[in-house]
Amino acid sequence: MEQPIAVTRQSFDEWMIPVYAPADFVLVRGEGSQVWDQQGKSYIDFAGGIAVNALGHGHPQVKAALIEQAGKLWHLGNGYTNEPVLRLAKQLIDATFADKAFFCNSGAEANEAALKLARKYALDTHGSEKNQIVAFNNSFHGRTLFTVTAGGQPKYSQDFAPLPAGIFHSPFNDLAAAAEAITDRTCAVIVEPIQGEGGVLPADPHFLQGLRELCDRHGALLIFDEVQTGMGRTGYLYAYMKYGVVPDVLTTAKALGGGFPIGAMITTDKLAKTLGIGTHGTTYGGNPLATAVAGTVLSLINTPQVLEGVKQRHQWFIDGLNSIRLEYPIFNEIRGGGLLIGCVLNKEYAGKAKQIIQLANDEGVIALIAGPDVVRFTPSLIIPEQDVKEGLARFARAVARICH
Ligand SMILES: *Cc1c(COP(=O)(O)O)cnc(C)c1O
Repeated sequence: MEQPIAVTRQSFDEWMIPVYAPADFVLVRGEGSQVWDQQGKSYIDFAGGIAVNALGHGHPQVKAALIEQAGKLWHLGNGYTNEPVLRLAKQLIDATFADKAFFCNSGAEANEAALKLARKYALDTHGSEKNQIVAFNNSFHGRTLFTVTAGGQPKYSQDFAPLPAGIFHSPFNDLAAAAEAITDRTCAVIVEPIQGEGGVLPADPHFLQGLRELCDRHGALLIFDEVQTGMGRTGYLYAYMKYGVVPDVLTTAKALGGGFPIGAMITTDKLAKTLGIGTHGTTYGGNPLATAVAGTVLSLINTPQVLEGVKQRHQWFIDGLNSIRLEYPIFNEIRGGGLLIGCVLNKEYAGKAKQIIQLANDEGVIALIAGPDVVRFTPSLIIPEQDVKEGLARFARAVARICH
């Protein structure tokens, strides 16, 4: 075989469409919650691929599931069903409020499916006037044109006009405003139980409860975008279980595949009927490799040990971050739930989240931002205590550097 092409971080700038600004090193290997770059430097991974690698890197059982399926069958197309997709559907149904599942490849596609379902359901049951979608400021629902328009950050959509019509935004956690926005013409309300990209901002319980009531009153579907909050991230399989508010439609992706691309929309029997044969679809949706991996990931995560372990790890993070706070007055709030944690920078350090992440990389820890003012941690749900301690010690050194 030919030698592989030599690549460095520089290659990114030469060959890649510049929609990302990746860190100035290239990671080549991961194991558990540690990753290594081309130079052999090790990092503690507090990002988990943006809330994706929920079981860390190279989990032996997940790897075995992938390899086993790779030896059997990779892909069929939707004219033929397969065993892993049917098993995954049953697992999701048994574990949630839902009766039916649709599979796709990403969070955006899952939300796209949810919004299309809502439009068609309203059309079929009420006629074409009921087509409005209510979403929330600062929300994030993906990058397709429909989902980027539903998202509440105009900077992601404004350059791609004309945008899909009939989408309205209301302030997050403001029930009075939502009561104004949601009317009999509303077909769906889409909301993240914790806004992830928008700054790790949890919904108030009474806000979600109120949205449920408003949706019931006006015959609108309540869609929970659990792409980031789902799959155990909050210490519950899905965050709706924590809130005790049941949506009509739920979208899940990111951690569902533990690193293998997959997304799903799940809903009730009644609503599922709307999407009849030929009304929606995607080539790779329900791919046997993806669903075999996701089935294993789901059965590993949906256990009392892992879900209770998330709550335990949350406390390790909060304790560690609070001691950093005592020493360096840089964060004015630590918020979120489970292992979706946001550290909000105070005024003096506003806009410096990215710089802190770069220093953290330098010290050997991988972390995320959620907007310019929030440092975000979304590590593996089974990260060992030793890695949490070591990662926070490294992070503390980065914070010390920015404070001096
Ligand atoms: C990441 C994310 C998405 C988009 O998922 P993709 O897989 O990137 O398309 C949608 N909604 C939320 C809440 C997310 O965090």
